[in-house]
Amino acid sequence: MCEDNYLVARLRSASAGREDDVFVKGQAGRTFGTFFANAERYAAVLASKGVAPGDRVAVQVNKSLAALELYVGAVMAGAVFLPLNPDYTASEITYFLQDATPRMFVVDPSYASEMQLAAKSGGVRHMMTLDAAGGGTLGDAVSQAPSGFTPVLRAADDLAAILYTSGTTGRSKGAMLTHRALASNAATLVDYWRFTPDDILIHALPIFHTHGLFVATNVALMSGATMVFLPNFNLGSIFAAMPNATAMMGVPTFYTRLLDDPRLTKDSTRNMRLFVSGSAPLLAETHTRWTERTGHKILERYGMTETNMNTSNPYEGSRKPGTVGLPLPGVEVRIVDGNRSTIGVEQIGSIEVRGENVFAGYWQMPEKTAEELREDGWFITGDLGVEDSEGYISIVGRSKDLIISGGFNVYPKEVEAIIDDLPEVLESAVIGLPHPDFGEAVVAIVVLVDPALTAQEISTATANKLARFKCPKSILFVDALPRNTMGKVQKKALREEYENLFR
Ligand code: AMP
Repeated sequence: MCEDNYLVARLRSASAGREDDVFVKGQAGRTFGTFFANAERYAAVLASKGVAPGDRVAVQVNKSLAALELYVGAVMAGAVFLPLNPDYTASEITYFLQDATPRMFVVDPSYASEMQLAAKSGGVRHMMTLDAAGGGTLGDAVSQAPSGFTPVLRAADDLAAILYTSGTTGRSKGAMLTHRALASNAATLVDYWRFTPDDILIHALPIFHTHGLFVATNVALMSGATMVFLPNFNLGSIFAAMPNATAMMGVPTFYTRLLDDPRLTKDSTRNMRLFVSGSAPLLAETHTRWTERTGHKILERYGMTETNMNTSNPYEGSRKPGTVGLPLPGVEVRIVDGNRSTIGVEQIGSIEVRGENVFAGYWQMPEKTAEELREDGWFITGDLGVEDSEGYISIVGRSKDLIISGGFNVYPKEVEAIIDDLPEVLESAVIGLPHPDFGEAVVAIVVLVDPALTAQEISTATANKLARFKCPKSILFVDALPRNTMGKVQKKALREEYENLFR
């Protein structure tokens, strides 16, 4: 496999000779043969529109198998696949298109007219439409196109995709992902999580994000497994799929919502061998409750857009609740202090990662790249973590969410853990807000299950366990915490909402 399209060759090899086997279940499903033949048709259409190796193909469509075929087709054509969240507005899309200058922009027909101006301002050469059923101008062209496209040669270091980070501060950045980074990480996960052609994976994640696009889809393709491909997370569909499936990858909210449903039992999950969680912290309590209800231990892993997956709890061996496990084979992870020197176990520091899985830099942001992806190959993740004596890592939060109150560091997670432990509390988010005396003041935003709990009682609980400077100066109650599609609590939005609380 030296003269080939590096990623596509590796995604295809497990199903070679098994073209008639089912890749995606269901009436509108696909065999491996039809999936790759369709991807070849997408590649042929892109090439006929002048998409050349290295050109970006930006895609803002709803989740569908057609969109997945477009992903593989774009990579086959030698292009750089650039998926965009369907929720992005025209003004957000204008930024992405101007920044990435894609040759082709594929959009759902329902928002095509709204995006016309954005495409023009980004200098997009071709704008085509694709709906979830494979219709639209691109879908129509594809249905006329021949299969049998020979994938364009691409080397390991060529770019396969650009994924924009969700951008917790400032503009979001385009993470450049090479064929090698994607292929090597998928191969590692197939091995580590023991995926085989006998697996049936429930896919209910969005496909504009690394979790659903690369972790789930690439692992399924590379292991030759079958997928149950759902348009979104829906409890009924998950319960319908589980008796005939073996694995699911999800974000923590999948697991808490499933736990709230009486259908979740040992019996309804008896055929499953693996539940993976990631993209946001899974509470230790959720892990424990899941085991009590189903007998399964959720396997939590940690990754990010820029690095693919970095750590995972082991397949065999102890899966420790509240931790993201051990560095994956081939991935170096270290926890460092402010001088970037490695620190000892049980001490909180900044997480750095190095390995083939790491991205090649931020698109057209050489300075930002140099700041975060160092010359020695280490990427400064921006996450804070701690390692235990057995090498298991726990994520303490984003360094940007660290609160410095009166000159002392407060790690939000430490405070959240105490508040979340109160039986009347569903969840909490602890943030730092500008304060005239302390610089930043610790504030807890709390969602209750039992409204009888008072702010005073929460204050007493934290005061009993924490030094005074860590205790919230103010406790606010809300109905729900703001979350993005991947289940991440949007602390930036909370900081903005309450920025004047002490001013
Ligand atoms: P994204 O680039 O959108 O995938 O976001 C990556 C960020 O999500 C990481 O830098 C972490 O802050 C967070 N994250 C991912 N997985 C986990 C996890 N298992 N536990 C806690 N945080 C996580």
